[in-house]
Amino acid sequence: MTDADKGADLRPQAADFVVTGTVVTADAERRVYTDGAVAVRDSRIVAVGPRAEVEAAYEPGRRLGGPRDLVIPGLIDTHNHMAQALVRSLALEDLPNITRVYIPAEDVLGDGGIRTSARVTMANLLRAGVTTTTDTTCTAEHEEAVGETALETGIRCALAVGQRDRTSRLASNYEQIEGRSEYQDDPAVRADNIAHLEDFLTRWSARGRGLVRPCIHAASVPSVSDEMFMAARDLAERHDTVMMTHINRDREEIELCVSLFGRRPLEHLSRLGVLGPRFLAIHAMLTTAREIRLLAEAEAKLTHAPVVCTDIVSAVTDVVGMRAAGVTVGLGCDTVINDILAVMRIAFFMQAQAAGIPMYDPIGFTTEDAFDMATIDGARALMWDGEIGSLEVGKAADIAVIDGENPRLSPRHNPVGSIVRYAVGTDVRSVLVDGRLVVDDSRVLTLDEDLLLKEADEVAVRVREDLLHRRYWPLNQRYKVIDG
Ligand SMILES: [Zn+2]
Repeated sequence: MTDADKGADLRPQAADFVVTGTVVTADAERRVYTDGAVAVRDSRIVAVGPRAEVEAAYEPGRRLGGPRDLVIPGLIDTHNHMAQALVRSLALEDLPNITRVYIPAEDVLGDGGIRTSARVTMANLLRAGVTTTTDTTCTAEHEEAVGETALETGIRCALAVGQRDRTSRLASNYEQIEGRSEYQDDPAVRADNIAHLEDFLTRWSARGRGLVRPCIHAASVPSVSDEMFMAARDLAERHDTVMMTHINRDREEIELCVSLFGRRPLEHLSRLGVLGPRFLAIHAMLTTAREIRLLAEAEAKLTHAPVVCTDIVSAVTDVVGMRAAGVTVGLGCDTVINDILAVMRIAFFMQAQAAGIPMYDPIGFTTEDAFDMATIDGARALMWDGEIGSLEVGKAADIAVIDGENPRLSPRHNPVGSIVRYAVGTDVRSVLVDGRLVVDDSRVLTLDEDLLLKEADEVAVRVREDLLHRRYWPLNQRYKVIDG
């Protein structure tokens, strides 16, 4: 080797980005570099470590971050509904609102409306540092629209679809002199759903370019047949993906399941052989210690959307018990607050209060636990941790930069604790997904935000006209809104 060659070897290599600041890796050793950097080339992270070493080795096309900024793995939202963003403030404090307002809202959107709703949600999430979201839809006409909008905005998306093939009816306590709870399955819908899923999973695994990952939504025990649950399990295995189910969410669901099958919902699915590492339970507020054991034994996962605990007023999910049993738990925005920094904080206070106060256990649930749930554990919940969830060489370059030139985040003795307790979505300055800069200077680059807000207002007026009569109570009670 000549001297000239040796000189060439020492020259920094080209990179697309070098991102500097306090780097919170969420890697296996949970390393945090107070003066760190991440180098990105194409879609990958090529270096993570002390800034001096990374900067000596890489010459970037563009620098992001700064000495006071925080550099974190792109945040992961493991549960959401793209079709519900435009209706959420119409359903406030008017319970129960899921089947009365949220689900009908999906049906009135149409193709144009769902694209607008998905763009609003994705813009909201990207601006708050969320690089991966999860959509659970039962409406066939939404699938393509959501997948295409994810590719357009540049967010990563686990896109779970599936039709309901069961109708069921819970006979109330007062109806049971003559009446009984009942259900009916529709084998024709099931056959259609299985054929459609087979096609959807094959098609989108190519079309999604690694950014949109097709998954299965087996909505719930009251709305999906036993045979469909078993078919979904087999499809998930064959297509190497995840199945997601809303479960143990409210009293009626459990009462129905016990009256029909003599078992609680997770016990029922366990009996069917459906629980396994590919099973992602959604919510599971009303889960017994027996059922937590079943989830843990099956290596099933959970997504915790803390805001929904208060929106449904059923219970607080026992996240501390689940984690202690070995269940991997991710966090979900679930439409209601599409800012996972806020959701982390809500989860932290809710879980610390629920588990900590009764037992005086100040370390039962920590800010680090909340941060893990929004990063590496969220990636595990979606079985995507080979690609995302931490800042490590070889992983996809999904990175969020939090503005640390910010009195809310200074001075900072504990970077992770400061993020969870104090950071808000608007503190996010830059976002990379798969090495592509999608948020710069706190603006989403992949769509016209001004135009989007106008579009959203138009769709929202239509949705409001269709749904306002469904509210039990007037939207405003003591506070009078005066148009003008
Ligand atoms: Zn949901």
